Amino acid sequence: MPLVVRTVRGDVEPSELGPTDAHEHLFFVTPIQPGDEFADLDKAIEEAQTLVAAGGRTLVDWTPLGLGRDPEGLLRVSEATGLHVVAATGVHRDAHYLADDPLRSIAVDALADRFVSDVSGSGVRSGVVKIGASYHRLQPLERTAFAAAAEAHRRTGVPVCVHTEHGTMGLRIVEHLGGLGVPPDSIVLAHLDRNPDAGEHAETGNAGAWLQLDGPGRTKYWPDSTILQLIADLAERGLAGRLLLGGDTGRSSTMRAYGGGPGLDYVFARFKPRLERELGEELSRRIFVENPARAFAFEPR
Ligand SMILES: [Zn+2]
Repeated sequence: MPLVVRTVRGDVEPSELGPTDAHEHLFFVTPIQPGDEFADLDKAIEEAQTLVAAGGRTLVDWTPLGLGRDPEGLLRVSEATGLHVVAATGVHRDAHYLADDPLRSIAVDALADRFVSDVSGSGVRSGVVKIGASYHRLQPLERTAFAAAAEAHRRTGVPVCVHTEHGTMGLRIVEHLGGLGVPPDSIVLAHLDRNPDAGEHAETGNAGAWLQLDGPGRTKYWPDSTILQLIADLAERGLAGRLLLGGDTGRSSTMRAYGGGPGLDYVFARFKPRLERELGEELSRRIFVENPARAFAFEPR
């Protein structure tokens, strides 16, 4: 079977992705961000159109189960804008779920079955399984989700995308998933730029995992120059072929359609042109086009 990227409108050849925003949320509702939820279809379309206008052709949505995940909504956004949209199934880090959330009592096998049916079932299909880790540790719900994601990967081939908390535990996560049968090149680690340490992430990248940076525009934490320097340092260490970039607009207050900013298009409209000026177009093409076409592709089983 040929490699495909599984989008909400069906499987596409990896070469069809074009410039890709590797981490976004078009719908997201979580108890730990009260007042910052967003679930409006028209606003999602409005926001996605700004990404298209800025040159984006594919968006990977990382919203997992229980947090406003809306595959049908993603399909409508994709149809309205022409964007390729990859949906996620999966379970986020522990903190996003209330004490009585039904996901907390689910068994590994049942959760794996749910992931597999989201990836391979008859509805709008997901193209990644997203899981999450806490700060320097894995909590019980997270261990269950890791095991279920690994089982779903074994059964479908789907890539496993991991939220890291402050960029911690990259290599440990790769080793943990490796022990469960997930090869490093099927693992995408998000938010690594929260810990802008090129040496540490180079080690994780050399183990074969995908390194995702997704904090451009989060000026209150660090300036974009920090991320550009991290990219330059990782490229210098030979990791240009393992880097992915996203915007991770996970709050309504980061969306212009909701009266916030900097907007879903920030990575493409502002950060990418600056990256091209400062680090060159060849590196940009690898990060935004070549690498996503490999990272999010899989051979369906
Ligand atoms: Zn996210």
